[in-house]
Amino acid sequence: MSAKLSGIGMTSQRTRARLVERLRSQGIKDEVVLETMGAIPRHIFVDEALASRAYEDCSLPIGFGQTISNPHTVARMSELLRGGGSLGKVLEIGTGCGYQTAVLARLAREVYSVERIAPLLTKARGHLRELRAANVKVKHADGSLGLKELGPFDGIIMTAAATHVPEALLPQLAVGGRLVFPIGTGEQRLCLIEHTAQEYRQTTLEAVKFVPLLPGLA
Ligand code: SAH
Repeated sequence: MSAKLSGIGMTSQRTRARLVERLRSQGIKDEVVLETMGAIPRHIFVDEALASRAYEDCSLPIGFGQTISNPHTVARMSELLRGGGSLGKVLEIGTGCGYQTAVLARLAREVYSVERIAPLLTKARGHLRELRAANVKVKHADGSLGLKELGPFDGIIMTAAATHVPEALLPQLAVGGRLVFPIGTGEQRLCLIEHTAQEYRQTTLEAVKFVPLLPGLA
């Protein structure tokens, strides 16, 4: 790894190891997720002025009024998406800076990620290229309707808050697949939908805070 990628001081491998221990103490149990988050240099996804804060327990601005989700939320959603199994094809809605995308790239065989803000996508592409994430395709699109032509997906993760269950995404979920997203306007909660052979089983989980899912391109 280059010096910039591996980091130094507050962005070093030791800092990532401390992040993993904190995630563990916060209740993240999936060892594959923990190992992944310990390996990915989160600091390259934020502006250099914020790099020293990249491993703190908070979300950070990434420009255009958007944020990189806090590490615990990324870990938790990844853990829910995996459900203890390995992932084939995954769709992410809301690429942002591409950090969650990079995590998914290590957890899944194939990742598609869509973002509505073009300049953010350009940044994310650069970050993912730096990490040589070859199994990822990003696309400038309104993700609220998913990516019908590329489905069905084994996992769909939405990193912006929906006001209601995104019905259009359900048929794009393979049997055995899992959809993880934040739901709500005032108070938001994580929502997990599992596509079993019989039904779409919905579970509402802990409170979270995300930027809203917005329509159209920017
Ligand atoms: N996973 C990202 C989170 C970024 S914030 C990260 O950790 O960096 C959520 C992102 O969702 C924003 O970049 C926002 O522009 C995007 N977004 C909101 N509505 C969207 C939509 N309808 N389609 C695609 N992306 C959307």
